[in-house]
Amino acid sequence: MKTRSVSNQATLLKTSSRDRRGTRPSKEPAVVAKAPAYTDPSACQYCGAFFTKKTWRRDHRITHALLTTAEWAKCPACRQKRSGTAYGRIFVRGAFEAAAASALRRRIVNVGRRAEHTQPEHRVISVQRAEQGLEVLTTSQNLAHRIVHELKKAFGGRASYRWSAADGYLEATWRK
Ligand SMILES: [Zn+2]
Repeated sequence: MKTRSVSNQATLLKTSSRDRRGTRPSKEPAVVAKAPAYTDPSACQYCGAFFTKKTWRRDHRITHALLTTAEWAKCPACRQKRSGTAYGRIFVRGAFEAAAASALRRRIVNVGRRAEHTQPEHRVISVQRAEQGLEVLTTSQNLAHRIVHELKKAFGGRASYRWSAADGYLEATWRK
């Protein structure tokens, strides 16, 4: 009797953990879901990011032993960078930009670096001078949003967003 109840419990636990696993992919952002299946563990041969437990990270301590077990691959961020596909675009506009362009640039690059450190798939691809200010490209909508959030926090200003479903862009405009 006792043995039976223990075994039932074990079965329940197993089932519930399998169920949770099964629902996870649909909750992942589109960028991750579209990426090819990677072997766990994998290492990106272009940027050194390390893939394990469904996540690409750069703050992993990479050891010889780790690399021996890993399969070389190209991480999602490097795939995007290579093909020139970006998922976030920010326009920085307004009179403030003309006066404080370098401070704005510094802020943007810093936010990008911080994001990239913990999640290599989130990174700033470029910060360029555009007709009416700066144009920033990022590898994720999430990072574009985070950068705008930090600009608002540091400098104030207003933000607006536009979603382009055709090419999967989140276009943000920050102005002050
Ligand atoms: Zn990479």
